[in-house]
Amino acid sequence: MKGCLFCGIVAGDVPSTPVLDTETCYAFRDINPAAPVHVLVVPKEHIDSLEGVGSSTVVLLGELVDAIRAVAAKEGITESGYRVVTNIGEDAGQLVTHLHFHVIGGRSLRWPPKGSEAGG
Ligand code: AMP
Ligand code: ZN
Repeated sequence: MKGCLFCGIVAGDVPSTPVLDTETCYAFRDINPAAPVHVLVVPKEHIDSLEGVGSSTVVLLGELVDAIRAVAAKEGITESGYRVVTNIGEDAGQLVTHLHFHVIGGRSLRWPPKGSEAGG
């Protein structure tokens, strides 16, 4: 989508540090990491937020979950644990309106999350 930062990253027009690249999903390092591991997993097609997926897009959702788990494995945090966050809309602090899952780990995280641990 024109003017979308993460569409620009998927297209390679905006630089990013890749972690995983599949047919339908792309994962790259967050520019402002909240923890030693902070990776964003996005669908390559533009979808505004989690509000745009569901039972009609189960295949893509499954591929996103596979990508999240593959990122965790690649980053070596499957055993130690990690947090997956997606912000939806203004009150949640969604800054980029292109569905993305924050994969955060590599240190002990507080619950409820504090500050950037919430993925914002
Ligand atoms: P959200 O608040 O859930 O929309 O999160 C947006 C995330 O994108 C924040 O954690 C930002 O640090 C991150 N971000 C913004 N611009 C970039 C970029 N060019 N490359 C990587 N991450 C970015
Ligand atoms: Zn987009």
